[in-house]
Amino acid sequence: MSISDETIEKIRRTNCQTDNTFFQAVEEVLVSLKPILESDPIYERHAIVERLTTPDREFKFKVVWMDDNQKIMVNNGYRVQFNNALGPYKGGLRFHPSVNSGILKFLGFEQIFKNSLTGLPIGGAKGGSDFDPKGKSDFEVMKFCSAYMTELHKHIGPRIDVPAGDIGVGAREIGYLFGEYKKITSSYEGVLTGKPFMFGGSLMRPEATGYGCVYFTDEMLKYAGKDGFEGRICAVSGAGNVAIHTIEKLYKLGAKPVTCSDSGGTIYDPRGIDLDTLKDIKLKKRESLIKYLDTHSEAIYTPVEEYPEGGHEVWQIPCECAFPCATQNELTEIDAKTLVENGCISVSEGANMPSTPEAIEVFKENDILFAPAKAANAGGVAVSEFEMSQNAGMEKWTYEKVESMLETTMRQICKRVHLTAQEYGVAGNYVDGANIAGFKRVADAMIAEGI
Ligand code: NDP
Repeated sequence: MSISDETIEKIRRTNCQTDNTFFQAVEEVLVSLKPILESDPIYERHAIVERLTTPDREFKFKVVWMDDNQKIMVNNGYRVQFNNALGPYKGGLRFHPSVNSGILKFLGFEQIFKNSLTGLPIGGAKGGSDFDPKGKSDFEVMKFCSAYMTELHKHIGPRIDVPAGDIGVGAREIGYLFGEYKKITSSYEGVLTGKPFMFGGSLMRPEATGYGCVYFTDEMLKYAGKDGFEGRICAVSGAGNVAIHTIEKLYKLGAKPVTCSDSGGTIYDPRGIDLDTLKDIKLKKRESLIKYLDTHSEAIYTPVEEYPEGGHEVWQIPCECAFPCATQNELTEIDAKTLVENGCISVSEGANMPSTPEAIEVFKENDILFAPAKAANAGGVAVSEFEMSQNAGMEKWTYEKVESMLETTMRQICKRVHLTAQEYGVAGNYVDGANIAGFKRVADAMIAEGI
C-alpha cells in the first residue's frame, strides 16, 4: 500500500464517516498529491496530510429568530476554521437548506488550496446555515442575520477569520451581518468581505469570480494553442452571481454564451443570453428563469422534470467551452460524454466541485482542457483579500486597479498550475497541477511554523 492509500483509508475511518462530499474532495486531492508525497518524505514526517485534512476547529450553534408572523424559528449555524498557516481564516458563508457540517467541511478543505493558489496571505474556512433566504422578507433575513452573528462574532475578527458571501449570502446579507457585528463589538473593522461599496466593500467583488473564471480559461486556452474566445459558443449553468458575471465577461471577450439555468430549469437562447433580462429576473426581482420567455419567445425553456435521466439540460447544448457555475455535482458522467460528443474543448468550474469524479475522468480520457474550481473560481476570494487590504489601509481602490489585479492574479494562477503540472510529470493536468501547487505552499508554511 502506498503512503497515500494508507492515509486515505485512515481519513475515511476517522474523519469522513458521514461526510461523503468531504471524502470525495479529500480523495481527489490525495490521489493528485501522490507524486509530491512520494518524492519528498518531509511531508510524511510532519504528518502534513493528517493535519491538513483535520479542521483546526468546527463550531455548530443554534440560531433562534422570529418571523414576520411572530413565530419563533430555529436553524443551525456553522463555521469550520480549517487551516490558517498562510493567513487569517477566509471563506464564504452559505445559507441554503442543504447546508450541513459535511458540506461545509468539503468547502472549507477546498478553500485552503484555493486560497493558497492565489499567492495571497489567507487561510481556509467555510460557514453557513440551513436557513433558506428564499421567500423570506427583507426584515426576516435581517433578523436571521442578526441572530446568526450573535454567536458567530465570538469566533471571527479581521486578523482571525474573515467570512464572505456564498450561495444565499450576497451584499444584503453581508450588510446585515456587518451591522450586527458592529453593534455587538462597537468596532468598525474589515471583519467581513463582500460588503457594499459604501461601507468598505471593494469594487469588482460581485464580478470577480465569474470574470476570474473567464480570464483563467482564456490563459488555459492560450497554453493549449487554442487562442481566445472570439466567436466561441459557450454553455453556462446557473443564474446567480457567478454565472451572470461569467456570461458578462464572455461577451466582453467576444464569445457567445447561449445557456443559463436555475433550480427550476434551463434557458437555451441560440442568439445568445440577453444579459440585461437575466440580471433583471435573477438579481433584481429574484424570480424564476421561466420569466425569460416573457420577453424572448424564441428561447427554449426546459424544466428540471424534463432533463435527461442522470443529466442536466445545459450540457446537452453543443458548445466549445463549458462553464458549470451553479452547484456541486451538477455535471455528471452522462453530461461529460455528451459534451465530448458535441465537440467541447474546455470545461471551467465556476461553481465549487460541480463535476462528479466520473465526469472528470471522461474529460481526462478525452484530453478536454479542464480547469478545476479551486483554481478557476479563485477570483472571488482574491478580490476579497483585496478588500481586506483596502480596509486595513483605509483605502478605496478604483475599478480599473482591482480588475487589473484580478486579471494578473488569475493568469498567474493558471501559469503556476500549468508549470507545476509539467514539473511533476502530468503536463496539461490542471487538477493535479492545482492540487500540488496549492498543497506545497500551505505544507511548507505548516512545516516552517512547527506543530
Ligand atoms: P447564487 O446563490 O448567486 O446562485 C446560484 C445559482 O445556481 C442560482 O441561480 C440557483 O438557482 C442555481 N442553482 C442552484 N442549484 C441548482 C441546480 N441544482 N441546478 C441548476 N441551478 C441551480 O450563488 P453563486 O453564483 O454565488 O455561487 C454559485 C457557485 O459558485 C457555488 O458553488 C458557490 O460555492 C461557488 N462560488 C461562488 C463564489 C462567489 O464569489 N459568489 C466564489 C467561489 C465559488 P435559484 O435561483 O433557483 O436558486
